[in-house]
Amino acid sequence: MLVDRDRLHIAIQKSGRLSELSRGLLRDAGLRIQNGKNELTARIENFAADLMFVRDDDIPTFVSDGACEFGIVGGNVLEEFALGTEERGFEILAKLGFGRCSLRIAAPEATAYEGPASLAGARIATSYPNIVRRFLADNGVDATVVTMNGAVELAPRLQIAGFICDLVSTGATLEANGLRPVETVLESEAVLIRTARPLNQIHADLGDRLLSRIEGVLATRDSKYIMMNAPGEALKRITEILPGAEAPTIIPLHGRAGHFAVHAVCQESVFWETLQKLKEAGASAILVVPIEKMML
Ligand code: ATP
Ligand code: ZN
Repeated sequence: MLVDRDRLHIAIQKSGRLSELSRGLLRDAGLRIQNGKNELTARIENFAADLMFVRDDDIPTFVSDGACEFGIVGGNVLEEFALGTEERGFEILAKLGFGRCSLRIAAPEATAYEGPASLAGARIATSYPNIVRRFLADNGVDATVVTMNGAVELAPRLQIAGFICDLVSTGATLEANGLRPVETVLESEAVLIRTARPLNQIHADLGDRLLSRIEGVLATRDSKYIMMNAPGEALKRITEILPGAEAPTIIPLHGRAGHFAVHAVCQESVFWETLQKLKEAGASAILVVPIEKMML
């Protein structure tokens, strides 16, 4: 396919843990993804961009080479790639708040572990050799890294390695294989990246628009609009309680002297406990509503 210089190219995972979440983010940013027959690319109907569906491991290469100007990939995959290259070919534009996981060293239940020194002379099986080698170097420990592309949890049972280093979210897979985590090497989440190569003016403008929409989506995902009525003397306390709200709007209530409506955007979750506290501070008729769109 001839790369279209008037359209932005966004690389996302074809199928896996990040595919639906990446599509969901773009959809929330207002991009209508055309479901064509071509499974490797998809056109965006209402924005000058095309999606490229690839394996997550290929996304850093595609973006660094400039084949795709933008990409969504796990921080873990990106870091592993970056450690294996001389020049940083990408820039991280935003952390996306999904695909959270940790890269952990784990060992069979019976293995003693008292800190990184316990890894000295051991064999560690992993799909993240560069990250593990850096961890070992940072801790001044000498160990052998055994690179595997999958089924890393089996390595101890097969006596390929005494330790493994793999991605963990709940820990259920480790447990099912009789392993326990002993060390966290990296915390990860999905990130939006951009090529470090210079963009033509069209791509730069499209990229700015995309980024500002995605930032808007990320801001609204955690934000709520909160409204309530309160007597004047409660306003100071109420402002202190409101989570992540800057400068609430205070409007006098018609026909109720000394009473006000308080409106605010809260940039954090609003829990029942918070509502209870607001009520105790004197607020009434408290309303929490989701925010559909926001442009910062
Ligand atoms: P591909 O076929 O694209 O190479 P994959 O099998 O390498 O896919 P997935 O298992 O789909 O990758 O995981 C994609 C990303 O999801 C990971 O790189 C990581 O950033 C994130 N992730 C979140 N939680 C987990 C988890 N518990 N285990 C593995 N990856 C996770
Ligand atoms: Zn992969």
